[in-house]
Amino acid sequence: MEYKALLAKKGLIDHNLTLMEDIAVLIEGTSIRSILPRIQYERIKPENCQETDLGDATLMPGLIECHNHLCIDASLQDHLELLSWSSECELTLIALKGLEKDLQSGVTTARCLGDRYYIDTALKKQIDAGRAAGPRLLSAGIGIKGLHGAGHIGSPHCGPEEIRRTCRENLRRGTDLLKLFITPGVPDPDSDFVPSYLSLEEIATAVEEGARANVPVAAHCIGGQGLKNCIDGGVQVIEHMYMASQQDVEWLLASNCVVDLTSGIFLDPSRESFLSPANAEKVKKNRVRVRRNVKRIIDAGIPFVLGTDAYHGFLYREAEYAVELGADTVTALRGITSAAARVCRLEHRTGSLKAGLDADIIAVKGNPLENISCLSQVEMVMKQGRIVV
Ligand SMILES: [Zn+2]
Repeated sequence: MEYKALLAKKGLIDHNLTLMEDIAVLIEGTSIRSILPRIQYERIKPENCQETDLGDATLMPGLIECHNHLCIDASLQDHLELLSWSSECELTLIALKGLEKDLQSGVTTARCLGDRYYIDTALKKQIDAGRAAGPRLLSAGIGIKGLHGAGHIGSPHCGPEEIRRTCRENLRRGTDLLKLFITPGVPDPDSDFVPSYLSLEEIATAVEEGARANVPVAAHCIGGQGLKNCIDGGVQVIEHMYMASQQDVEWLLASNCVVDLTSGIFLDPSRESFLSPANAEKVKKNRVRVRRNVKRIIDAGIPFVLGTDAYHGFLYREAEYAVELGADTVTALRGITSAAARVCRLEHRTGSLKAGLDADIIAVKGNPLENISCLSQVEMVMKQGRIVV
């Protein structure tokens, strides 16, 4: 058996990211064999163990990006418009580039929330087979929106039977989740009303199709009656929630839903320049309101995970925003590690440094418990026992 060891000054272990000093992580093949103090490791280390000493760095679980798209790279000019006139080949090239940036930034698992041409399901298989580089993927295939609905990457549907058909096609192709688009993405700056474009019956149809295959449903929803319908219809993960009102927070607290926060779209001014002038203006007008609404979710203690919505390489900023809006550092970190693994149903494989789990490990400069921003300085990435960065 092939052994490797990662040595570092600090490590964040188990699902609560407990700090351990002078740590050694022993890796056997693709998984973590044991985590032990360095002194103890020196006594038991196997012969021919390939050691990597990361010095002052902190070891932690590989990051989990909970809201990705492969056909979108939010750092490309007019990336939303690009979607409509790009070919499958062009979108595949965008996808490969994005996956590379994800991996470089420490993302070892990415949950994709709808793509074109089944590029996500195809690339997932290629990555699993070792023919393409990228994080382990969860795919959603074709995203489902209302005929009159929003969601650039969603495909229009009308009525439960059309939705059932796409769900079954997605499941036939092996998607890990189903994705619905319920509301607009960007709220109307002049109104608090949030339209919803799929009925309770349509939502429940997707949930029922997924449930029979043990596949969960995630819904793009920024709040309002659409949220209530998602909860009543059995949706497990609510994406975005930019318009969370006090009523929405109460509905969420009484539900089993997890919220996937993607606040950077509104809070990160660096993203404006990649949008059309009209979209950038709408984002700016909503910034204060979105900040207040997302804070409401965090303050209420609603379980959350984090995603960038295709801003590849910038997941650390979502963790920074969560902390800035009031989350404690461990909760924010769990939103891109152990809590994220649970949402992906992968807690038995990844999301923590723990014996028996896959060796998905990164080394960052500094201690993220003290300064979350050091997640931007990833010095090493190991995916399933192999150092890839
Ligand atoms: Zn999205």
